Amino acid sequence: MFVVGVTGGIGSGKTTVTNLFQQHGIMIVDADVIARHIMDKGGEALRAVVQRYGDKALLDDGNLNRAWLRERIFKHPEDKQWLNDLTHPLIRDQILSQLQQAKSDYVILSAPLLIENRLTKLCDRVLVVDVSEATQLERTQQRDNVSEDQVQAIINAQASREQRLQAADNIIHNEGDEAELTSQVETLHELYLRLALVKQS
Ligand code: ATP
Repeated sequence: MFVVGVTGGIGSGKTTVTNLFQQHGIMIVDADVIARHIMDKGGEALRAVVQRYGDKALLDDGNLNRAWLRERIFKHPEDKQWLNDLTHPLIRDQILSQLQQAKSDYVILSAPLLIENRLTKLCDRVLVVDVSEATQLERTQQRDNVSEDQVQAIINAQASREQRLQAADNIIHNEGDEAELTSQVETLHELYLRLALVKQS
């Protein structure tokens, strides 16, 4: 399967872009969705969390208390490492399985931390959605109704714009309007169809 990794900083427009690829019939594997499901009730990851922390890691309904775990990790960096070691292999396996099952001409792996978590190794091409930091701040604040400081903290924790651009095979410039975005996606879709055919042959 020909895999296109899509990444970009917070609020850069990854979801907007992958929705446009989806309209061309391309399947999207979303690392964020998988990361959330990994902690579902009854799963091995949640069992390991309860083994380590006890029931205080759970809500009354038996689901993970995500706010509690976030706080714990924030205060104890060694716990963050432990959690990453637990979840990353599970997330990776699930990503691989979904990529293998995808039934479109090529498949997109969408991951905000594609570069940081070295998921680029799973990709034939890396597509970066690029905007200025000012645009990231403006669009994320508008979308999520959060403060500038909160968005800035997330930007600072992610790979830098330069690091992302260095890893890019293709770049979508998302400062313009929807029509500009649609036309960039169309051009790339044609390219990826051709590259997928070459890989198949
Ligand atoms: P996150 O990493 O936070 O999940 P994202 O990269 O998936 O974000 P989107 O949710 O697609 O980003 O876009 C961020 C916001 O910017 C959304 O409200 C979206 O509607 C808006 N947006 C995206 N592209 C454009 C554009 N070209 N012009 C105006 N607004 C846009």
